[in-house]
Order: sequence, then structure tokens, then C-alpha cells
Amino acid sequence: MTTAIIAIHGGAGALSRETITPQQQAAYETALNDILAQSGALLDKGGSALDAVTLAVRLLEDCPLFNAGHGSVFTSAATHEMDAAIMDGATLGCGSVASISTVRNPVLAARAVMETSEHVFFCGKPAEALAAAAGLDMVEPDYFSTALRREQLDRVRATGAASFVLDHDAVAQVQPGHAAAPLDEDSKLGTVGAVALDQAGNLAAATSTGGMTNKQPGRVGDSPIIGAGCYASNQSCAVSSTGTGEMFIRSVAAYDVAAQMQYAGRTLAQAADNVVFDKLPAIGGVGGLIAIDAQGNVALPFNSEGMYRGYRRIGQDPVVGIYR
Ligand code: ASP
Repeated sequence: MTTAIIAIHGGAGALSRETITPQQQAAYETALNDILAQSGALLDKGGSALDAVTLAVRLLEDCPLFNAGHGSVFTSAATHEMDAAIMDGATLGCGSVASISTVRNPVLAARAVMETSEHVFFCGKPAEALAAAAGLDMVEPDYFSTALRREQLDRVRATGAASFVLDHDAVAQVQPGHAAAPLDEDSKLGTVGAVALDQAGNLAAATSTGGMTNKQPGRVGDSPIIGAGCYASNQSCAVSSTGTGEMFIRSVAAYDVAAQMQYAGRTLAQAADNVVFDKLPAIGGVGGLIAIDAQGNVALPFNSEGMYRGYRRIGQDPVVGIYR
């Protein structure tokens, strides 16, 4: 029997150490611990890796601290467009959705694609129709809005400095000590994800995001793209990415970790470090990833100032972190 393990992330980048308050840090750590406890308990009981990553990402989506589901960032049109993906390492079954705004939990829509369709990727209204037909909770788009994200959009629009901004960069511009101030003032990235290995030895991965503040409507990042933002194969590993999506797509980041293990005989840590510290920075990619291999090794590398992250092995206490 394999020693089950789950790892999660709530986005690369973090409120800088200088500006994060003890209360803010505690809020993030408590959320990560709670979500690891709940999804880990599912693995303890013999639940599948697929169910564990689905649960973890659903809970991360429901938590407004993170840029996915409720609390997602705004597009330049002041709308929300969310993307998500899920992959089953045992079968290579997968499902993705992009640019959706009325499904309460985008990760469940991705799973519905995987389980109810012969296709793997839907976007926009047809993706929402598929989710509704699968019986998922549908909501008005403003369910996803929070005052903080609106403030981020207004700030980015006012500066005119960037055409679009990673979640953490936008939050970063909130004044220190502001009630809503989240993360690193220079490098806030946002997305959520989970990877898991279950007692039967199966791997799974899931990723969900609101994308980038002030992004152009229709823009899709790496998160729902199998091989870039999400990948799982029992032959190698399960990976969920977070960061500058365009660079993760160009690097085929998640699959590159798996490919280096399979074709170059690298360990999980060697492969993950190569992608995050060599390949991504070489093209200006900022962010990180979480990965677990078929032996239960875990890697959580990031090249940003911080990444909300944690893991929990079966029967053990969760381990969470924000900075290096
Ligand atoms: N990768 C996400 C995207 O490009 C954003 C992030 O992880 O911060 O949409």
C-alpha cells in the first residue's frame, strides 16, 4: 500500500514579508491547514487522489483569499472569466474549462467535462451549459466579486502601467496595513491547485484560476491547458502550476517535469527545479509549481518571493509555508 500524500498551492508570490501582518499570515496559514486536513482525511479513508484534488481545489475556490472561484480577479471589462483543469494519472483522463463565469466551482466543471464528455476542453457558454446539465451549482457572475478584487482592477486601470497584472502584483499595490492588503507588492501571482497520490498508487492533479487582473476578455492562461498548468500520469508525476501563464504555456511546464523524469531519468526534485529555476526564468517566467511522484516524493519550488503552499502525508500533520 502506498503512503498517500496531498499537496496544494494558493498561488506563487505572497505579501512581502515586510508588509504582511501577523493576522494576514495566520489567515492564509489557517486556510491552507484546514484544506489540507479535509482533503487529507479523504485520502486517509482510502479515497482516490482524483477526489482529494477535486475537494482541495473546490475548498480553495470557495475561500476568497485566493484568486479562483469566489474572490477571482476582474478582466479589463470588469467581468470574471475563470479557467480550470483536472487530470487522472491512472487513465490520462482529463477535463478543462476556460472563460466561464456562472459555475460556482470551475474545478467541478472541469471534472464534469472529464466524466460526461468524450472531449477534453470546453470554453465559454457551452462549457457552462455542460456544467449546468451535469447538475452543478450555477451562480450569477457577481458571486465571484469581492471588494478587494474590484479595488485591484481600479488601481491597475488608474496607473495605466500595465495592460494586465498577475493577481499578486495588483494586490501588492494596496497600502501596507490596509485591511484587504494581500500579497507581495512586487510579485503576487494567483491560482490554486492540488496534486495527490492515493493509497492505491494513483496520481491526480487539478488547477483553477481567475487569471490576471485587467486581462483582455477571452485571454486564457496556462491553468486549463493540460501539460502547461496541470498534468498527471502514474508513469511519472502529478503537477499543478502557478505564475505568468504565457511563459508556462511556452515552456509546457507541467509536462516538462514529467518528461524529464521519464526520458532523462531525473528525480522529481531535479526535474521540477530545472523547470522553475532554469527554463522559466530564461524566458522571463515567474511562479512555481507543486508536484508529487508515484513514490510519494513532493516538490514545491517557486522563483517568486513566496508561494502559498503545503502538503500532508497520510496520518501526519500538515506542513504549510508562504516564503522560502
Ligand atoms: N497562471 C495563471 C494565469 O496565467 C495566473 C497565476 O497563476 O497567477 O492565468
